[in-house]
Amino acid sequence: MPALMEQVVDGPEGYEGVQAGPEWAAEVRRLAKARNATILAHNYQLPEIQDVADHVGDSLALSRMAAEVPEETIIFCGVHFMAETAKILSPEKTVLIPDQRAGCSLADSIKGDELRAWRAEFPDAVVVSYVNTTAEVKALTDICCTSSNAVDVVASIDPEREVLFLPDQFLGAHVKRVTGRANMHIWAGECHVHAGINGDELAEQARTHPDAELFVHPECGCATSALYLAGEGSFPADRVHILSTGGMIEQAKAAKSSQVLVATEIGMLHQLRKAAPGIDFQAVNDRASCRYMKMITPAALLRCLVEGADEVHVDAEMAALGRGSVQRMIAIGNSGGGE
Ligand code: SF4
Repeated sequence: MPALMEQVVDGPEGYEGVQAGPEWAAEVRRLAKARNATILAHNYQLPEIQDVADHVGDSLALSRMAAEVPEETIIFCGVHFMAETAKILSPEKTVLIPDQRAGCSLADSIKGDELRAWRAEFPDAVVVSYVNTTAEVKALTDICCTSSNAVDVVASIDPEREVLFLPDQFLGAHVKRVTGRANMHIWAGECHVHAGINGDELAEQARTHPDAELFVHPECGCATSALYLAGEGSFPADRVHILSTGGMIEQAKAAKSSQVLVATEIGMLHQLRKAAPGIDFQAVNDRASCRYMKMITPAALLRCLVEGADEVHVDAEMAALGRGSVQRMIAIGNSGGGE
């Protein structure tokens, strides 16, 4: 038993007791190699988790990578629905999440039974789900979407057919406005982190940073405000970018301003600062931190590698149905990476 492992404590907020440092990082890398495992980390993970991982990215890009890498075991440092998506796309691999209690308030905002009841109300509708959903909800979905392609996915559907869009109301409102589609019903779900970034804070930031560019994630409660402010001229339209988290990294490399305001979870700042060190990236709301993402602590990752837990299981039939809804999305193209 490694000495570091003896320090791991299962506390009220998850596994704790281990400090990230060179000894921890070396032990993580040694254990990953011994398990023939790849460590994937989402952009919202703690900086030390991002830095020790083999690959960092957004949810769909990581799930697709999980299927492509040669290693048989995937350590998915992110929230549970993301690890489930990796398992759906790689059913033959072992997928581990360092703490299976890391949920997601957005994915939890619609359960399988609720979607079944909604579908029964609109039996001819096409169900479009953002990738932040459980495997059960994906299995009940016709086409998944990401924030990058949600507009294209909805636009690809016969205009005569009704659309049930879930679970994020802000992304749904954005898609409805862009497509002008009247027969689209939107589930009233939201992410507690993104919804907490509001228009008032954004307006204040726009006033105090007149030369900055603005990167907004469309699941963020201020996306509507960002577009409104752009329309009002408070934020020049060419400086407002509505982007997936992967899209933010690409845009950072092309940014023309010396300062960029970022409206999404604050973990994103770490990769942006690495991608474009010359730019001053500032959070619109520096309290926008996802407590579920931060449950993947150095202690949790160490425990996962030592114990081979928590393993993610998805029923084979459910996985096949969910895979179909993800693959129909990929076939439409420009899937980007989701959150
Ligand atoms: S930031 Fe929001 S949508 Fe993302 S994992 Fe956390 S709760 Fe879910």
